[in-house]
Amino acid sequence: MRSQYDVIIIGAGVVGCMVARWLSRYTLRILLVEKTSDVCTGATAANSALVHAGYHAVPGTLKAEMNIKANPMWDRLSEDLQFGFVRSGAYIVAVGEDERPSLDMFLDRAQKNGTPAQIISGREMHKREPCITPEVTSALFVPAGGICDPWGATIAAAENAVMNGVELRLDTEFQEFLWSDEEVKHIVGIKTNRGRFHSRWVINAAGLFADEVMHKAGVRPEFTITPRRGEYFVLDRSRIQVQNVLFPVPTPISKGILVTPTLHGNTLIGPNAENVEDKIDVDVTPEGMDEIWDGGKKLVPSLDRRDIIAVFAGLRPAGNAPCQNPDVHYNHDFIIEIPEHVKGFVNLGGMDSPALTAAPAIAEKVVELLREAGEALAPKADWDSIRPARPVFRNLSHGEQAALVAEDPRYGRVICRCEYVTEGEIVAEIHAPIPATTYDALKRRTWLGTGRCLGAFDMPRVINILARELGKDPLEITKKGDGSELLFRRTKEVP
Ligand SMILES: Cc1cc2nc3c(=O)[nH]c(=O)nc-3n(C[C@H](O)[C@H](O)[C@H](O)COP(=O)(O)OP(=O)(O)OC[C@H]3O[C@@H](n4cnc5c(N)ncnc54)[C@H](O)[C@@H]3O)c2cc1C
Repeated sequence: MRSQYDVIIIGAGVVGCMVARWLSRYTLRILLVEKTSDVCTGATAANSALVHAGYHAVPGTLKAEMNIKANPMWDRLSEDLQFGFVRSGAYIVAVGEDERPSLDMFLDRAQKNGTPAQIISGREMHKREPCITPEVTSALFVPAGGICDPWGATIAAAENAVMNGVELRLDTEFQEFLWSDEEVKHIVGIKTNRGRFHSRWVINAAGLFADEVMHKAGVRPEFTITPRRGEYFVLDRSRIQVQNVLFPVPTPISKGILVTPTLHGNTLIGPNAENVEDKIDVDVTPEGMDEIWDGGKKLVPSLDRRDIIAVFAGLRPAGNAPCQNPDVHYNHDFIIEIPEHVKGFVNLGGMDSPALTAAPAIAEKVVELLREAGEALAPKADWDSIRPARPVFRNLSHGEQAALVAEDPRYGRVICRCEYVTEGEIVAEIHAPIPATTYDALKRRTWLGTGRCLGAFDMPRVINILARELGKDPLEITKKGDGSELLFRRTKEVP
């Protein structure tokens, strides 16, 4: 029997979406399944948004290899997919004399990994970043570091994949593998809450849940993922403090609490690193907030709590996979493999930092593995690498804004005042190749609701627009899918 699909990908985070896009170049029938109501809702939705240079990853690991290979890919990727990215460079700042020697270790790692790096004096650091602590003694400058829009990158990659023929099924949860009747240990598809789908290959890109998926395939029973929470503060755009990406000297388990500008002009402070048990626990804690504030103040003492407009947390899918290179003692590496004893399965796991950075190289590696496994992978003649961006009103000149409003008056109605998002942009996203059907989906695409009022002004209007465009009752409109309805009942109906 011919399979419905050649490839099924489980999970539409940055890794699954980049893999889908890379594979969409070839004449393959591809299905991408995601259990939530949108792409980019897992680890990819809440992180530091940095394209790492590669000074931190342990030399000889897959993390280092993928980080270094992917870093230069982001310029072309952001041009093709038209999302935000700047190659800003980054600094690792030594505070006090004690921290100075650590920079030598990271300079050495950067050199071994092959990314340019340079130690600069405390005085030079102060010149480049006037609000840095006066206690700075020196800093490591890594010019290849960058700031990206992880929401934009992931959604654009998924959209480009869909434009090139990939089928995306949201609200579709992988439950079990389907196995061949004729051959032992041969995966031939998946069972989901929405039915069974047959396929010649299944790719595990389930992020925090990748351990559970691989265990169902009978692969690496000893591998586990520990969610490692990282909390953040977002500061108001009108009070810009820092111009540069400022890392502290890393701790043994993370890159430490950084202070960085975002592409949208806010300042971001965080993350801490706390192992938790629950894979969906993204609550922030008072202790965590104190920890990250202290961490931020260590680098930039002038930070002011009155500028905080939002807090959030993300979960790193931290795994315990040893490095495949036996000479390297490191037990938290990526897994990128076709296991020998299970046919039809590509296994991706342990995708904590720097997997956002590394995702395009991981996608290329998956293509390589499939080729090595005998897939012919014939390129499509009509593959289009470009994902045209839709107009972002606040970024246009007055002349361009006037022309757009003349063409479509909905661009003249501002719905989110803080972020200056218009009805025209919202409607365009609701009818895009991957329709935004919830409040959060619109937020990730347009940045509405991310300003100082946090949606207080725009939310009722956005609910009405979503209801009108989707032909639904406003009571049915959700924040992020079933069970997160935003309205409880009509007040006029209260007896
Ligand atoms: C605090 C923090 C800071 C970070 N900072 C950076 C950084 O600056 N730079 C960097 O490079 N990396 C960073 N990272 C790491 C980066 O965010 C992650 O490594 C990356 O986003 C992982 O992507 P993913 O696609 O593997 O996982 P996810 O984004 O979690 O995607 C997996 C998807 O699979 C879906 N899924 C799971 N189970 C199923 C199922 N059964 N059926 C269907 N779908 C399923 C999930 O819903 C999810 O959408 C950071 C992470 C955190 C948490």
